Amino acid sequence: MGGKTAESGTAASDREADERGLASGPVLVTGANGYLASWLVKRLLERGCEVRGTVRDPADTRKTEHLRRAAGEAPGRLSLSAADLLAPGSFDAAMAGCHLVFHTASPFIARSLRNPRRQVIEPAIEGTRNVLDAANRTASVRRVVLTSSVAAVYGDACDLAATDAGRFDERCWNTSSTERHQPYSYAKAAAERLAWQVSESQDRWDLVTLNPGLVLGPALSRHAGSESVSILRDFASGLYRLGVPALEFGIVDVRDVAEAHLRAGLGSSAAGRHLLVAGTLSLLEIGRILRDAFGSGYAFPPRILPTPFVRLLAPLTGVSQAFVSRNVGYPLAFDSGRAERELGMAFRPAGQAVVDHFRQLLDDGLVVERPRPAGR
Ligand code: NAP
Repeated sequence: MGGKTAESGTAASDREADERGLASGPVLVTGANGYLASWLVKRLLERGCEVRGTVRDPADTRKTEHLRRAAGEAPGRLSLSAADLLAPGSFDAAMAGCHLVFHTASPFIARSLRNPRRQVIEPAIEGTRNVLDAANRTASVRRVVLTSSVAAVYGDACDLAATDAGRFDERCWNTSSTERHQPYSYAKAAAERLAWQVSESQDRWDLVTLNPGLVLGPALSRHAGSESVSILRDFASGLYRLGVPALEFGIVDVRDVAEAHLRAGLGSSAAGRHLLVAGTLSLLEIGRILRDAFGSGYAFPPRILPTPFVRLLAPLTGVSQAFVSRNVGYPLAFDSGRAERELGMAFRPAGQAVVDHFRQLLDDGLVVERPRPAGR
Protein backbone atom coordinates (compact mmCIF):
# COMPACT_ATOMS: atom_id res chain seq x y z
CA MET A 1 0.00 0.00 0.00
CA GLY A 2 1.31 3.42 -0.76
CA GLY A 3 0.22 6.99 -1.20
CA LYS A 4 -1.03 9.47 1.33
CA THR A 5 -2.32 8.58 4.77
CA ALA A 6 -6.07 8.76 5.38
CA GLU A 7 -5.62 11.96 7.42
CA SER A 8 -3.47 13.84 4.93
CA GLY A 9 -5.76 12.68 2.12
CA THR A 10 -8.79 14.05 3.95
CA ALA A 11 -7.10 17.42 4.51
CA ALA A 12 -6.18 17.52 0.83
CA SER A 13 -9.79 16.69 -0.14
CA ASP A 14 -11.01 19.51 2.10
CA ARG A 15 -8.85 21.99 0.25
CA GLU A 16 -9.82 20.62 -3.12
CA ALA A 17 -13.51 20.73 -2.23
CA ASP A 18 -13.15 24.36 -1.28
CA GLU A 19 -11.49 25.03 -4.62
CA ARG A 20 -14.31 23.51 -6.62
CA GLY A 21 -17.14 24.13 -4.20
CA LEU A 22 -18.57 20.70 -4.96
CA ALA A 23 -19.94 20.34 -1.45
CA SER A 24 -20.82 24.01 -1.01
CA GLY A 25 -24.50 23.32 -1.69
CA PRO A 26 -26.68 20.30 -1.06
CA VAL A 27 -25.28 16.88 -2.00
CA LEU A 28 -27.56 14.15 -3.34
CA VAL A 29 -27.21 10.50 -2.30
CA THR A 30 -29.53 8.03 -4.07
CA GLY A 31 -30.52 4.93 -2.09
CA ALA A 32 -29.40 6.75 1.07
CA ASN A 33 -30.62 3.98 3.40
CA GLY A 34 -28.52 1.27 1.73
CA TYR A 35 -25.80 -0.64 3.58
CA LEU A 36 -23.01 1.29 1.86
CA ALA A 37 -24.82 4.61 1.35
CA SER A 38 -25.67 4.86 5.06
CA TRP A 39 -21.95 5.12 5.85
CA LEU A 40 -21.51 7.69 3.08
CA VAL A 41 -24.40 9.79 4.41
CA LYS A 42 -22.96 9.58 7.93
CA ARG A 43 -19.51 10.72 6.73
CA LEU A 44 -20.98 13.59 4.70
CA LEU A 45 -23.02 14.74 7.70
CA GLU A 46 -19.93 14.56 9.91
CA ARG A 47 -18.20 16.91 7.45
CA GLY A 48 -21.08 19.36 7.81
CA CYS A 49 -22.64 18.75 4.39
CA GLU A 50 -26.28 19.32 3.58
CA VAL A 51 -27.35 15.86 2.41
CA ARG A 52 -30.41 15.14 0.34
CA GLY A 53 -31.07 11.44 0.49
CA THR A 54 -33.52 9.61 -1.73
CA VAL A 55 -35.14 6.40 -0.48
CA ARG A 56 -38.12 4.48 -1.75
CA ASP A 57 -40.20 5.16 1.32
CA PRO A 58 -39.10 7.96 3.68
CA ALA A 59 -41.91 7.00 6.09
CA ASP A 60 -40.40 3.53 6.67
CA THR A 61 -38.72 4.33 9.99
CA ARG A 62 -37.21 0.84 10.23
CA LYS A 63 -35.06 1.67 7.19
CA THR A 64 -34.36 5.34 7.94
CA GLU A 65 -34.10 5.80 11.72
CA HIS A 66 -30.32 5.22 11.71
CA LEU A 67 -29.92 8.05 9.17
CA ARG A 68 -31.97 10.48 11.24
CA ARG A 69 -29.93 9.45 14.29
CA ALA A 70 -26.66 10.11 12.39
CA ALA A 71 -27.99 13.53 11.39
CA GLY A 72 -28.83 14.29 15.02
CA GLU A 73 -25.25 13.57 16.06
CA ALA A 74 -23.47 15.52 13.29
CA PRO A 75 -23.16 19.13 12.20
CA GLY A 76 -24.60 18.48 8.72
CA ARG A 77 -28.27 18.51 7.74
CA LEU A 78 -30.29 15.67 6.21
CA SER A 79 -33.52 15.60 4.26
CA LEU A 80 -35.04 12.44 2.87
CA SER A 81 -37.41 12.26 -0.08
CA ALA A 82 -38.99 9.47 -2.11
CA ALA A 83 -37.57 8.38 -5.47
CA ASP A 84 -37.78 5.18 -7.48
CA LEU A 85 -35.13 4.07 -9.94
CA LEU A 86 -37.79 3.00 -12.43
CA ALA A 87 -39.82 6.23 -12.36
CA PRO A 88 -38.58 8.77 -14.93
CA GLY A 89 -38.17 12.24 -13.40
CA SER A 90 -38.15 10.76 -9.89
CA PHE A 91 -34.82 12.34 -8.90
CA ASP A 92 -35.32 15.84 -10.35
CA ALA A 93 -36.72 17.55 -7.26
CA ALA A 94 -34.07 16.16 -4.89
CA MET A 95 -31.26 17.01 -7.32
CA ALA A 96 -32.26 20.64 -7.88
CA GLY A 97 -29.41 22.92 -6.73
CA CYS A 98 -26.91 20.07 -6.07
CA HIS A 99 -23.37 20.27 -7.46
CA LEU A 100 -22.56 16.74 -6.45
CA VAL A 101 -24.58 13.54 -6.96
CA PHE A 102 -23.71 10.13 -5.52
CA HIS A 103 -25.67 7.45 -7.35
CA THR A 104 -25.46 4.36 -5.16
CA ALA A 105 -29.02 2.95 -5.45
CA SER A 106 -29.18 -0.38 -7.25
CA PRO A 107 -30.34 -3.74 -5.95
CA PHE A 108 -27.50 -6.02 -4.87
CA ILE A 109 -28.96 -9.49 -5.33
CA ALA A 110 -26.62 -12.05 -6.84
CA ARG A 111 -28.17 -15.40 -5.83
CA SER A 112 -31.54 -17.09 -6.31
CA LEU A 113 -32.84 -14.51 -8.80
CA ARG A 114 -36.28 -15.52 -10.08
CA ASN A 115 -36.71 -12.67 -12.56
CA PRO A 116 -33.26 -11.14 -13.19
CA ARG A 117 -34.52 -8.56 -15.69
CA ARG A 118 -37.06 -7.14 -13.27
CA GLN A 119 -35.06 -7.65 -10.06
CA VAL A 120 -31.63 -6.32 -11.05
CA ILE A 121 -31.16 -5.46 -14.74
CA GLU A 122 -33.90 -2.85 -15.19
CA PRO A 123 -33.29 -1.05 -11.86
CA ALA A 124 -29.52 -0.90 -12.51
CA ILE A 125 -29.69 0.30 -16.12
CA GLU A 126 -32.90 2.34 -16.18
CA GLY A 127 -32.10 3.75 -12.74
CA THR A 128 -28.71 4.98 -13.98
CA ARG A 129 -30.37 6.42 -17.07
CA ASN A 130 -32.97 8.24 -14.95
CA VAL A 131 -30.41 9.68 -12.54
CA LEU A 132 -28.12 10.84 -15.36
CA ASP A 133 -31.04 12.27 -17.36
CA ALA A 134 -31.90 14.25 -14.24
CA ALA A 135 -28.25 15.40 -14.01
CA ASN A 136 -28.47 16.58 -17.64
CA ARG A 137 -31.61 18.58 -16.77
CA THR A 138 -30.11 20.07 -13.57
CA ALA A 139 -27.87 23.02 -14.40
CA SER A 140 -26.13 23.02 -10.99
CA VAL A 141 -24.65 19.47 -11.27
CA ARG A 142 -20.84 19.40 -11.70
CA ARG A 143 -20.00 15.82 -10.74
CA VAL A 144 -21.67 12.43 -10.55
CA VAL A 145 -20.06 9.63 -8.53
CA LEU A 146 -21.43 6.24 -9.56
CA THR A 147 -21.21 3.19 -7.33
CA SER A 148 -20.24 0.56 -9.83
CA SER A 149 -18.62 -2.74 -8.86
CA VAL A 150 -15.88 -5.23 -9.60
CA ALA A 151 -18.77 -6.94 -11.37
CA ALA A 152 -18.32 -4.30 -14.11
CA VAL A 153 -14.60 -5.15 -14.24
CA TYR A 154 -14.84 -8.93 -14.60
CA GLY A 155 -17.60 -11.51 -14.89
CA ASP A 156 -16.06 -14.80 -13.78
CA ALA A 157 -12.86 -15.63 -11.92
CA CYS A 158 -11.60 -17.60 -14.93
CA ASP A 159 -11.49 -14.28 -16.86
CA LEU A 160 -8.31 -13.49 -14.89
CA ALA A 161 -6.32 -15.62 -17.33
CA ALA A 162 -7.11 -13.12 -20.10
CA THR A 163 -5.73 -10.07 -18.22
CA ASP A 164 -2.42 -8.51 -19.30
CA ALA A 165 -0.97 -8.17 -15.81
CA GLY A 166 -2.47 -11.26 -14.13
CA ARG A 167 -4.61 -8.91 -12.02
CA PHE A 168 -7.90 -7.16 -12.59
CA ASP A 169 -7.55 -3.39 -12.79
CA GLU A 170 -9.43 -0.36 -14.14
CA ARG A 171 -8.58 -1.24 -17.75
CA CYS A 172 -10.66 -4.44 -17.52
CA TRP A 173 -14.31 -4.62 -18.47
CA ASN A 174 -16.70 -7.48 -17.85
CA THR A 175 -17.50 -8.94 -21.26
CA SER A 176 -18.49 -12.44 -20.14
CA SER A 177 -21.73 -11.83 -18.22
CA THR A 178 -25.12 -11.96 -19.95
CA GLU A 179 -28.74 -11.61 -18.91
CA ARG A 180 -28.77 -15.36 -18.22
CA HIS A 181 -25.25 -15.93 -16.89
CA GLN A 182 -24.36 -13.66 -13.93
CA PRO A 183 -27.23 -11.17 -14.46
CA TYR A 184 -26.22 -8.94 -11.52
CA SER A 185 -22.73 -8.54 -13.00
CA TYR A 186 -24.22 -7.98 -16.45
CA ALA A 187 -26.47 -5.26 -15.01
CA LYS A 188 -23.61 -3.47 -13.23
CA ALA A 189 -21.38 -3.57 -16.32
CA ALA A 190 -24.18 -2.30 -18.58
CA ALA A 191 -25.08 0.47 -16.11
CA GLU A 192 -21.48 1.67 -15.86
CA ARG A 193 -21.01 1.59 -19.65
CA LEU A 194 -24.19 3.61 -20.04
CA ALA A 195 -22.96 6.12 -17.47
CA TRP A 196 -19.70 6.67 -19.39
CA GLN A 197 -21.64 7.09 -22.65
CA VAL A 198 -23.99 9.67 -21.13
CA SER A 199 -21.12 11.51 -19.43
CA GLU A 200 -19.14 11.72 -22.69
CA SER A 201 -22.13 13.22 -24.50
CA GLN A 202 -21.96 16.43 -22.43
CA ASP A 203 -19.31 18.55 -20.71
CA ARG A 204 -20.99 20.21 -17.71
CA TRP A 205 -20.49 17.41 -15.19
CA ASP A 206 -17.76 14.83 -14.82
CA LEU A 207 -18.18 11.20 -13.88
CA VAL A 208 -16.13 9.26 -11.34
CA THR A 209 -16.87 5.58 -10.81
CA LEU A 210 -15.98 3.34 -7.89
CA ASN A 211 -15.68 -0.40 -8.40
CA PRO A 212 -15.70 -2.10 -4.98
CA GLY A 213 -15.18 -5.80 -4.45
CA LEU A 214 -17.42 -7.64 -2.02
CA VAL A 215 -18.16 -5.04 0.64
CA LEU A 216 -18.10 -6.29 4.24
CA GLY A 217 -17.86 -4.48 7.57
CA PRO A 218 -20.36 -3.29 10.16
CA ALA A 219 -23.77 -2.07 8.98
CA LEU A 220 -25.24 1.04 10.58
CA SER A 221 -28.71 -0.51 10.60
CA ARG A 222 -29.79 -3.94 11.73
CA HIS A 223 -32.27 -3.84 8.83
CA ALA A 224 -29.58 -3.60 6.11
CA GLY A 225 -30.83 -5.81 3.27
CA SER A 226 -27.66 -6.01 1.15
CA GLU A 227 -26.43 -9.39 -0.06
CA SER A 228 -23.21 -8.49 1.83
CA VAL A 229 -25.12 -9.10 5.06
CA SER A 230 -26.61 -12.41 3.98
CA ILE A 231 -23.24 -13.64 2.72
CA LEU A 232 -21.74 -13.14 6.18
CA ARG A 233 -24.81 -14.44 8.03
CA ASP A 234 -24.48 -17.67 6.05
CA PHE A 235 -21.31 -18.38 8.02
CA ALA A 236 -23.39 -18.80 11.15
CA SER A 237 -26.56 -20.21 9.62
CA GLY A 238 -25.30 -23.75 9.16
CA LEU A 239 -25.19 -23.47 5.36
CA TYR A 240 -21.44 -24.17 5.42
CA ARG A 241 -21.56 -26.83 8.13
CA LEU A 242 -20.12 -29.48 5.79
CA GLY A 243 -17.69 -27.20 3.99
CA VAL A 244 -17.43 -24.52 1.31
CA PRO A 245 -16.60 -24.35 -2.38
CA ALA A 246 -13.08 -23.21 -3.32
CA LEU A 247 -14.36 -19.72 -4.04
CA GLU A 248 -12.48 -16.45 -3.56
CA PHE A 249 -13.67 -12.86 -3.19
CA GLY A 250 -11.94 -9.51 -3.47
CA ILE A 251 -13.03 -7.81 -0.23
CA VAL A 252 -13.18 -4.22 0.96
CA ASP A 253 -14.47 -2.63 4.17
CA VAL A 254 -17.73 -0.67 3.90
CA ARG A 255 -16.19 2.25 5.83
CA ASP A 256 -13.36 2.48 3.29
CA VAL A 257 -15.81 2.35 0.37
CA ALA A 258 -17.71 5.28 1.91
CA GLU A 259 -14.42 7.16 2.37
CA ALA A 260 -13.47 6.50 -1.26
CA HIS A 261 -16.85 7.90 -2.34
CA LEU A 262 -16.22 11.02 -0.29
CA ARG A 263 -12.80 11.52 -1.85
CA ALA A 264 -14.08 10.78 -5.34
CA GLY A 265 -16.83 13.34 -4.82
CA LEU A 266 -14.81 16.08 -3.19
CA GLY A 267 -11.35 15.73 -4.71
CA SER A 268 -11.02 18.15 -7.62
CA SER A 269 -8.63 15.87 -9.51
CA ALA A 270 -10.63 12.64 -9.08
CA ALA A 271 -11.45 11.10 -12.45
CA GLY A 272 -12.16 7.77 -14.10
CA ARG A 273 -12.69 4.32 -12.57
CA HIS A 274 -11.32 3.13 -9.22
CA LEU A 275 -11.05 -0.49 -8.19
CA LEU A 276 -11.56 -0.86 -4.43
CA VAL A 277 -10.27 -4.17 -3.09
CA ALA A 278 -8.27 -4.48 0.13
CA GLY A 279 -7.44 -8.15 -0.24
CA THR A 280 -8.63 -11.51 -1.49
CA LEU A 281 -10.03 -14.17 0.81
CA SER A 282 -11.55 -17.58 0.11
CA LEU A 283 -14.71 -18.71 1.86
CA LEU A 284 -12.58 -21.15 3.86
CA GLU A 285 -10.20 -18.35 4.92
CA ILE A 286 -13.15 -16.20 6.01
CA GLY A 287 -14.33 -19.16 8.09
CA ARG A 288 -10.87 -19.50 9.66
CA ILE A 289 -10.72 -15.78 10.50
CA LEU A 290 -14.15 -16.00 12.13
CA ARG A 291 -13.24 -19.13 14.09
CA ASP A 292 -10.05 -17.48 15.39
CA ALA A 293 -11.99 -14.38 16.46
CA PHE A 294 -15.25 -15.88 17.76
CA GLY A 295 -14.46 -19.52 18.64
CA SER A 296 -15.71 -22.79 17.23
CA GLY A 297 -19.23 -22.60 18.68
CA TYR A 298 -20.61 -21.59 15.28
CA ALA A 299 -21.08 -23.67 12.14
CA PHE A 300 -18.05 -22.15 10.44
CA PRO A 301 -16.87 -24.17 7.41
CA PRO A 302 -14.42 -26.95 8.28
CA ARG A 303 -13.13 -27.81 4.78
CA ILE A 304 -13.20 -27.25 1.02
CA LEU A 305 -15.90 -29.31 -0.70
CA PRO A 306 -14.98 -31.27 -3.86
CA THR A 307 -15.93 -29.22 -6.91
CA PRO A 308 -17.98 -32.01 -8.64
CA PHE A 309 -20.12 -32.19 -5.47
CA VAL A 310 -20.49 -28.38 -5.46
CA ARG A 311 -21.52 -28.42 -9.13
CA LEU A 312 -24.13 -31.10 -8.47
CA LEU A 313 -25.67 -29.14 -5.59
CA ALA A 314 -25.37 -25.72 -7.27
CA PRO A 315 -29.04 -25.30 -8.23
CA LEU A 316 -30.09 -25.96 -4.61
CA THR A 317 -27.83 -23.13 -3.37
CA GLY A 318 -29.08 -20.46 -5.78
CA VAL A 319 -26.17 -20.47 -8.23
CA SER A 320 -25.86 -22.10 -11.67
CA GLN A 321 -23.58 -24.95 -12.67
CA ALA A 322 -21.97 -22.58 -15.20
CA PHE A 323 -21.12 -20.25 -12.31
CA VAL A 324 -19.41 -23.13 -10.51
CA SER A 325 -17.47 -24.16 -13.63
CA ARG A 326 -16.18 -20.64 -14.26
CA ASN A 327 -15.48 -19.53 -10.67
CA VAL A 328 -14.85 -22.38 -8.25
CA GLY A 329 -11.16 -23.27 -7.97
CA TYR A 330 -9.93 -20.14 -9.76
CA PRO A 331 -7.73 -17.63 -7.89
CA LEU A 332 -8.46 -13.90 -7.99
CA ALA A 333 -6.05 -10.96 -7.99
CA PHE A 334 -6.72 -7.22 -8.05
CA ASP A 335 -4.71 -4.03 -8.35
CA SER A 336 -6.26 -1.18 -6.33
CA GLY A 337 -3.12 0.96 -6.65
CA ARG A 338 -4.97 3.70 -8.46
CA ALA A 339 -7.36 4.32 -5.53
CA GLU A 340 -4.36 4.33 -3.18
CA ARG A 341 -2.39 6.80 -5.30
CA GLU A 342 -5.12 9.07 -6.61
CA LEU A 343 -7.68 9.00 -3.78
CA GLY A 344 -5.09 8.50 -1.02
CA MET A 345 -6.86 5.39 0.22
CA ALA A 346 -5.23 3.17 2.85
CA PHE A 347 -7.53 0.15 3.08
CA ARG A 348 -8.29 -1.72 6.29
CA PRO A 349 -7.27 -5.39 5.95
CA ALA A 350 -10.00 -7.62 4.52
CA GLY A 351 -9.91 -9.77 7.68
CA GLN A 352 -10.79 -6.75 9.82
CA ALA A 353 -13.88 -6.08 7.70
CA VAL A 354 -14.94 -9.71 8.26
CA VAL A 355 -14.41 -9.63 12.04
CA ASP A 356 -15.99 -6.19 12.59
CA HIS A 357 -19.00 -7.17 10.48
CA PHE A 358 -19.62 -10.41 12.38
CA ARG A 359 -19.26 -8.50 15.67
CA GLN A 360 -22.00 -6.10 14.51
CA LEU A 361 -24.26 -9.05 13.60
CA LEU A 362 -23.77 -10.39 17.13
CA ASP A 363 -24.23 -6.99 18.78
CA ASP A 364 -27.46 -6.41 16.85
CA GLY A 365 -28.77 -9.88 17.67
CA LEU A 366 -28.79 -10.95 14.02
CA VAL A 367 -26.60 -13.92 14.90
CA VAL A 368 -27.07 -15.68 18.20
CA GLU A 369 -23.96 -15.39 20.37
CA ARG A 370 -22.49 -18.78 21.26
CA PRO A 371 -19.99 -19.28 24.05
CA ARG A 372 -16.54 -20.58 23.15
CA PRO A 373 -16.41 -24.32 23.88
CA ALA A 374 -14.16 -25.07 26.90
CA GLY A 375 -10.47 -25.17 26.02
CA ARG A 376 -10.91 -23.50 22.55
P1 NAP B 1 -28.35 -2.30 -0.41
O1 NAP B 1 -28.15 -2.12 1.04
O2 NAP B 1 -29.33 -3.33 -0.84
O3 NAP B 1 -28.69 -0.90 -1.06
C1 NAP B 1 -29.33 -0.80 -2.28
C2 NAP B 1 -30.10 0.50 -2.30
O4 NAP B 1 -30.76 0.61 -3.57
C3 NAP B 1 -31.18 0.57 -1.22
O5 NAP B 1 -31.24 1.89 -0.74
C4 NAP B 1 -32.44 0.24 -2.01
O6 NAP B 1 -33.61 0.78 -1.44
C5 NAP B 1 -32.13 0.92 -3.31
N1 NAP B 1 -33.01 0.45 -4.36
C6 NAP B 1 -33.16 -0.80 -4.82
N2 NAP B 1 -34.10 -0.83 -5.79
C7 NAP B 1 -34.56 0.44 -5.92
C8 NAP B 1 -35.54 1.08 -6.72
N3 NAP B 1 -36.26 0.42 -7.62
N4 NAP B 1 -35.72 2.42 -6.58
C9 NAP B 1 -35.01 3.14 -5.68
N5 NAP B 1 -34.07 2.59 -4.88
C10 NAP B 1 -33.86 1.26 -4.99
O7 NAP B 1 -26.99 -2.71 -1.13
P2 NAP B 1 -25.50 -2.16 -1.00
O8 NAP B 1 -24.65 -3.35 -0.80
O9 NAP B 1 -25.41 -1.03 -0.08
O10 NAP B 1 -25.25 -1.66 -2.49
C11 NAP B 1 -25.18 -0.28 -2.80
C12 NAP B 1 -24.49 -0.13 -4.13
O11 NAP B 1 -23.17 -0.68 -4.05
C13 NAP B 1 -25.18 -0.84 -5.30
O12 NAP B 1 -25.03 -0.03 -6.44
C14 NAP B 1 -24.35 -2.11 -5.45
O13 NAP B 1 -24.42 -2.63 -6.76
C15 NAP B 1 -22.96 -1.57 -5.13
N6 NAP B 1 -22.00 -2.57 -4.73
C16 NAP B 1 -22.22 -3.30 -3.59
C17 NAP B 1 -21.28 -4.24 -3.22
C18 NAP B 1 -21.45 -5.06 -1.98
O14 NAP B 1 -20.71 -6.03 -1.78
N7 NAP B 1 -22.41 -4.72 -1.11
C19 NAP B 1 -20.13 -4.44 -3.98
C20 NAP B 1 -19.93 -3.65 -5.11
C21 NAP B 1 -20.87 -2.72 -5.47
P3 NAP B 1 -34.58 -0.13 -0.53
O15 NAP B 1 -33.96 -0.14 0.82
O16 NAP B 1 -35.87 0.59 -0.59
O17 NAP B 1 -34.62 -1.49 -1.15
